[in-house]
Amino acid sequence: MKLDAKVLRYMSAEEFRVLTAVEMGSKNHDVVPTTLIAQIAGLRHGGSHKLLGELAKRNLVARVKNARYDGYRLTYGGYDYLALKTFAKRESIYSVGNQIGVGKESDIYIVANEEESQHVLKIHRWNRLGRVSFRAIKSKRDYLNRRKSASWMYMSRLAAMKEYAFMKVLHENGFPVPTPIDQVRHCIVMELINAYPLRQISEVKDPGKLYSDLMNIIVRLANYGLIHGDFNEFNILVKENSEPVLIDFPQMVSTSHPNAEWYFNRDVECIRRYFLRKYGYESMLYPKFHLDINREFDLDVQVAASGFTKQHQQELEQYQAELNEFQDQTEGSPLSRDEDPEPKNINRTYSAHRDITEIRSISTNLSLPATRLTDVEIKKR
Ligand code: ADP
Ligand code: MG
Repeated sequence: MKLDAKVLRYMSAEEFRVLTAVEMGSKNHDVVPTTLIAQIAGLRHGGSHKLLGELAKRNLVARVKNARYDGYRLTYGGYDYLALKTFAKRESIYSVGNQIGVGKESDIYIVANEEESQHVLKIHRWNRLGRVSFRAIKSKRDYLNRRKSASWMYMSRLAAMKEYAFMKVLHENGFPVPTPIDQVRHCIVMELINAYPLRQISEVKDPGKLYSDLMNIIVRLANYGLIHGDFNEFNILVKENSEPVLIDFPQMVSTSHPNAEWYFNRDVECIRRYFLRKYGYESMLYPKFHLDINREFDLDVQVAASGFTKQHQQELEQYQAELNEFQDQTEGSPLSRDEDPEPKNINRTYSAHRDITEIRSISTNLSLPATRLTDVEIKKR
């Protein structure tokens, strides 16, 4: 799904009212009845009908003919639009530039503020169910229908909230992560790190030093009560001076998680294996969950205090587990690496899938953003 910032240019105040009404109506309707949209927007039925048609043409809403009533649902395009609009109003984003990454559950863009400082916009997209075979389409539809209304929107927003909350707490505690700047709906704005993922770095000056820096980060995280959960060569950016920066936090788990040790070991193993395969580097030294971890702080408590609660965490895990189950049924296991099978009672992450998509997400072009939101977005209210 491509982000089309130009679409902002053509939005009238009335259209915006209607779009907002669709979003509000989606809180308790899968398909928002056209009459309800008119009511929320405070427009005559005929008036909103025409505006909805305009919005649908630009893929901001989609018409759904339900057996019981006619209505619309918000699309990702519409949700993106609303988020961008809020970012613009808060002056976090002024212009949108190149896309630099496509993950399995996210799109990454370069953006800039009015001072032309460049940042990264990460848009969470949690309705990507992977490549679904033709035969699976029917079961997919049934599956989606069973889910409560607009869950893709809610889950993408939860993922963004989680990532932002963790990034903030990690940043405040001196971990090498991008500076978080803002979060709205399913989107995050953060510092642009001028570095490439470890995956793209064929030669490292001192692999031993980088290896121990990374292991130290894993240990320090655990001492603060956290495990990254997807600590791999795609989620570690390496700066020119060889300093690593950690990204991508929606799957972080607490060291008090019942399967914490398994997650911890997987993160450690991932680095060990990668360094051996890619740099021929092997060390006898690597951290062990029971020996090396002395929990000193409770960052997961700080995260909860920031508004991302335990209940949010559970909802997100539950949804992830359902998606995985669905994927297993339709296309086999997403795990293709020679990993230990995960204990049964926990949720699998998407690492293997991510690896496939992220290879294409090369940040080669860090040029200045093209579309100015304010050219477009003239009235900030
Ligand atoms: P996903 O959840 O889809 O894996 P990531 O947060 O890992 O998304 O980002 C995907 C890719 O985008 C990264 O591998 C990296 O190349 C690039 N990227 C993400 N955030 C930043 C950033 N703050 N600075 C520079 N590049 C980034
Ligand atoms: Mg990633």
